[in-house]
Amino acid sequence: MKRRTGQDRSITTHWRPATQAVRGGTARSEWGETSEAIFLTSGYAYDCAGDAAARFAGEQVGMTYSRLQNPTVQMLEERIALLEGAEACRTMATGMAAMTAVLLCQLQTGDHIVAGRAAFGSCRWLTDTLLPKFGIGVTIVDARDPQQFEDAARPDTKLFFFETPANPTMDVVDLKAVCDIARARGITSVVDNAFATPALQRPMEFGADVTAYSATKMMDGQGRVLAGAVCGTEDFITNTLLPFTRNTGPTLSAFNAWVVLKGMETLDLRIRRQSENSLKVGTFLEGRVPRILHPGLASHPQHNLAMVQMDACGPIFAFEVEDRKQAHGLLDALQLVDISNNIGDSRSLMTHPASTTHAGVAEEKRLEMGVNEGMLRLNVGLEDPQDVIEDLDGALRAVGL
Ligand SMILES: *Cc1c(COP(=O)(O)O)cnc(C)c1O
Repeated sequence: MKRRTGQDRSITTHWRPATQAVRGGTARSEWGETSEAIFLTSGYAYDCAGDAAARFAGEQVGMTYSRLQNPTVQMLEERIALLEGAEACRTMATGMAAMTAVLLCQLQTGDHIVAGRAAFGSCRWLTDTLLPKFGIGVTIVDARDPQQFEDAARPDTKLFFFETPANPTMDVVDLKAVCDIARARGITSVVDNAFATPALQRPMEFGADVTAYSATKMMDGQGRVLAGAVCGTEDFITNTLLPFTRNTGPTLSAFNAWVVLKGMETLDLRIRRQSENSLKVGTFLEGRVPRILHPGLASHPQHNLAMVQMDACGPIFAFEVEDRKQAHGLLDALQLVDISNNIGDSRSLMTHPASTTHAGVAEEKRLEMGVNEGMLRLNVGLEDPQDVIEDLDGALRAVGL
């Protein structure tokens, strides 16, 4: 490994985010390649038996097995940590592997957590179904109101878990207010930052302890691979997260790590352009549809808060039509925008959450979250926004809107 290794933070930590996204964490091999190498290897060989023993004992720097370490994966982890402004990062095979690990690694029977109501469907399964199965108490709150975290916190509360903006209702959580409440009580705040990414929002600057990602979304950004990540202090990652992940094995493959590394190079560009496009499309839809939930528009009840916490609005928003029939009709009339439940892609994609991403959430919980039958979620991509607007215009006309 040559200069600019991930470990040599004295060179890299002062770089600005756009520079980190392109160069952070790069560790060149003896060949001096400009683009990061893919190390497709499950194991590593040692010069002598003593070296193997020393590496296993943690007395010698080096890798032992790709469930635990891999050079390509480590480059991505270093890059994400540098962008996040975190001491350390560990990647996972998927966003859900990251969310599961970040919860299970620090909770045990008898603990209690407070979690945001509006959340990714599988995150709600973790809080509503998985954790209670192991005797972990969960209180679900409307995370838009920080007081609800304060009121729900108990002496046995170990963590607050929420996302902002939240999927798919675009609820915005006041990061500073909620993280302050957590800090004052010694509770760990865990923020799912998949929608904004560190390019637009760095929760740790507002006091968050841990951030967790689906890197499948904006970080890859081109709809190719699944990946996840968790960022925190060196102590948290090494002593709390790693014992769990090293032994349970939700490891990211080197190939997928490489794809996300390439995605990170254009993250800043993509998310800013997609935010601009999203604002143009949102402005067109406002007034044309009964309701729009777009953090970049002044009509969003938490627009000001969103703009304080985020550098731009991001590519994703939701809007409502009458009912499921009209929502499905609108989707079926689209010609450019794909019907797809992915987000963060460079292509514009639209889905009907009630019948797809949130179909697994019980109806009363879904309605309580604000996911009604007429809601549609749109990820605005990198196409010319005028083409997206014309496609939406045609589809709206087709259903009489
Ligand atoms: C997609 C998503 C996840 C899950 O990530 P996967 O990579 O699909 O496992 C978790 N949280 C949020 C907010 C997401 O959008």
